[in-house]
Amino acid sequence: MSFSPIFPGSVDASGRPATLGVMGGGQLGRMFVHAAQRLGYFTAVLDPDATSPAGRVSHHHIATGYSDAQGLQQLAALCHAVTTEFENVPAAALQALAASRPVAPGAAAVAIAQNRIEEKAHFTASAGVAGVTCAPYAVIETAEHLKAVDAELLPGILKTARMGYDGKGQVRVANLAELAVAWAGLKGVPCVLEKLLPLKAECSVIVARGWDGAITGFAPQFNLHVDGILAVTAAYEGNMPPALAQRARGATESIASHIGYVGVLCVEFFVIDDGSADGALVVNEMAPRPHNSGHYTLDACDVSQFDLQVHAMAGLPLPQPRQHSPAIMLNLLGDVWFDAAGRPRTPDWQAVLALPGAHLHLYGKLEARPGRKMGHLTLTGADIAGVKSVARQAAKILALPGLDALG
Ligand code: ATP
Ligand code: MG
Repeated sequence: MSFSPIFPGSVDASGRPATLGVMGGGQLGRMFVHAAQRLGYFTAVLDPDATSPAGRVSHHHIATGYSDAQGLQQLAALCHAVTTEFENVPAAALQALAASRPVAPGAAAVAIAQNRIEEKAHFTASAGVAGVTCAPYAVIETAEHLKAVDAELLPGILKTARMGYDGKGQVRVANLAELAVAWAGLKGVPCVLEKLLPLKAECSVIVARGWDGAITGFAPQFNLHVDGILAVTAAYEGNMPPALAQRARGATESIASHIGYVGVLCVEFFVIDDGSADGALVVNEMAPRPHNSGHYTLDACDVSQFDLQVHAMAGLPLPQPRQHSPAIMLNLLGDVWFDAAGRPRTPDWQAVLALPGAHLHLYGKLEARPGRKMGHLTLTGADIAGVKSVARQAAKILALPGLDALG
């Protein structure tokens, strides 16, 4: 598709400065706003929360619901292009914006990512080309589907087709009886049952695709989850067998190209034990936006995932990012703001910030709650052994879980 670039610092015929908009005001929106403003763009955020992390730092904050016609009109009037920072923004809202403004990613791509059933069909059609499959699964939308479930899929994980994130909307089930109880517990909404796989590792790949179809991106990063929430990301040369890394990147590019995707896309993969030395790749899910596992790119790469988001939506060139330092990212959940006895505390930033190569990012959320993503800490250094050692010190100071599994 041909697209006239929206240059930062330019002013249009009606006197408006080049402005980029984002649906959603969470931390991903905040880091997008930072990247856009650094280039010289004005920014607008639509999020109902008056204290949203991105709304607080943006030139404009429209505090309406995502489907509010007036709010959407206001956003379209302010912006020259619009992106999104979370996948559950109503596809109809993106469609409405697209009537007058470039929207990247588009409503159709976001709609696929919102629904695990459609997502898996899309993966089969696109990642399949790169030889990567989904976990064996069954769609459960009716009592008949439930009855017809193949016992081969058990033990498994029942996942709601919509609105799942950070492990929410998921139930592990050992047998058919548990499956029936779990589905009833999820109120009989459309679900997929996935076979529980023997995971060796988890990784994700972030790419950016432009209006002209050009693709760029990062090497796979290695991810560790605790209680279904990302805890640690490790990004360094050799974090994965090269053949597997190449295949994951190829599958991600295929997933993006297949739907003419524009913007930043993250695809999550499992590496499963299939008896081979490297293991086999299984595609899990995609996020139509920058991803928590790509936050290290802010400090360890010359171009971050948020820079690529800005470039892609504005039609600017998509440079190939270069990672200049090995990195480990540690997520900072609200739990860090409480001691072992559950009493509120201020984390020991004095000790953390004294660590070499420590980059602290807090999202401006004033209320810490267990499980709430409050910020992240990225450690960079000259070599991965050194970075791991500093990351262990940071994890000890902040009582963070997950690093043991890194080896
Ligand atoms: P998020 O959006 O935060 O990535 P989510 O709620 O959409 O998470 P999934 O990514 O589907 O959930 O699953 C969360 C985690 O649960 C995975 O990262 C993985 O550790 C585990 N998991 C999910 N599906 C399977 C499976 N089929 N076999 C084994 N482990 C799984
Ligand atoms: Mg996931």
